[in-house]
Amino acid sequence: MSRPPAPRYCAICGTELSPNARACPNCGADERTGWREQDPADGLDLPPDEEDFAAAHSRFLTEIGHEARKSRNRLKHVVIVTITACLVLAFLASMFLLR
Ligand SMILES: [Zn+2]
Repeated sequence: MSRPPAPRYCAICGTELSPNARACPNCGADERTGWREQDPADGLDLPPDEEDFAAAHSRFLTEIGHEARKSRNRLKHVVIVTITACLVLAFLASMFLLR
């Protein structure tokens, strides 16, 4: 895996860097700490920052809530259908028995 080239200037302190510098000679920032975010070739999926995480988390909770409501509605539907079927069966049975 090839190392991305160092930026021309340190992103932290602005010291000029040699093209194959691996760390800033002045402040010690390196590609892992200092200038990684400046690197446009960085294709890694870094974890989202805290704000994105909070938004994703609340969206997740909202979806969970929707799912719970949906399944409650489904349960209510099943109960209504079952009661209706029982009433119809009871009605038919009474028609036969009272004849
Ligand atoms: Zn520096």
